[in-house]
Amino acid sequence: MPLPHLRDLRHDALAGAFEHVGVERAESVSRRLILALHGRGALDWDELPLGRSAGRVREHFRFEPLLEEARVREADDGTRKFAFRLRSGEVIETVLIRNRANRTLCVSSQAGCAMGCGFCATGAMGLLRNMTAGEITESKARIERETGERVTDVVFMGMGEPLHNYDAVMTACANLNVQDAAPIARKRITVSTSGLVDAIDRYAAERQPWRLHLSLHSAIQETRERIMPIARLHPIRELLDSMRRYQESCSVKWVTLQYVALPGVNMDDAHVDALERELRGLRTILNVIPWNDTGADFRAPTWAEVKDFTTRLRRLRCPVKVRYSAGKQEGMGCGQLSAETLAAAPSTGHMIAPPGIFTA
Ligand code: SF4
Repeated sequence: MPLPHLRDLRHDALAGAFEHVGVERAESVSRRLILALHGRGALDWDELPLGRSAGRVREHFRFEPLLEEARVREADDGTRKFAFRLRSGEVIETVLIRNRANRTLCVSSQAGCAMGCGFCATGAMGLLRNMTAGEITESKARIERETGERVTDVVFMGMGEPLHNYDAVMTACANLNVQDAAPIARKRITVSTSGLVDAIDRYAAERQPWRLHLSLHSAIQETRERIMPIARLHPIRELLDSMRRYQESCSVKWVTLQYVALPGVNMDDAHVDALERELRGLRTILNVIPWNDTGADFRAPTWAEVKDFTTRLRRLRCPVKVRYSAGKQEGMGCGQLSAETLAAAPSTGHMIAPPGIFTA
């Protein structure tokens, strides 16, 4: 069995793991290590302050690099997209979005995705494999080192369904938030799900402190099933009830729902009526995301269509925001970078449009 990788362990489990293998002064060694790993973003054994414990730690744990930077591209608006190759060969994407003082990192949680959403090329890849907690947090460490900029926000909206890789994603969130190590605030870590009801219920029961967003995309069951096969498992009312339970048990004031705008699919009056009907009793913020053309069988909306849709959404009496697609220019579409990097591998990601500036 391979040795555990130091970056894969939850920060509050490190001291116990060290103690278990006989590391002296395990508590103090683990405290120093956490600062190096999750604060300074150490990437090499030489950067870990292990002192006399080095031999014992190296005997029982691994700390080799988990990612190799394969490609990077920068858009005119400053958004940078990084393609990283995992040691097993798959390529994943991470996006750094600059918005005034904020530096938002859009991270992947899986190579590929099992959810098969029709508007997303990652869905067409199927699930290649789950990422480990260490792979997720190492992408942040590498990008901070390369850019010299401190990440302020992390959103799990890259490739993959984060709640389908629940344990690794929760460990990564905890390590991103670890105190005393330049933590990312709880409310600045966002997990976005396509709607796995059992996992949402677990998330609520465990009262996870990170924000949970739901990619709704339609409140009509038939439309949702058409564009998101996962909807066949979870009828819309069951799904929204799970979000109500989450809102209540985690004392969340507003639940954010993502709504990818697809003309001819989910922007007509019937869909506005369905939203008004189904969202009753749920305090929501609706994020409308104009679909970012990635070559699937849909059309990107014009701004006039988006404006008309959001005007009709006013009767929901909830905040409606339009999410600006950061880095939207030729060759910068989600997944293009990893597709170019991994020949013949179509991609894109949960990030239909990477989170960016709220414009309305
Ligand atoms: S949109 Fe997200 S959940 Fe759906 S297939 Fe793409 S990566 Fe998976």
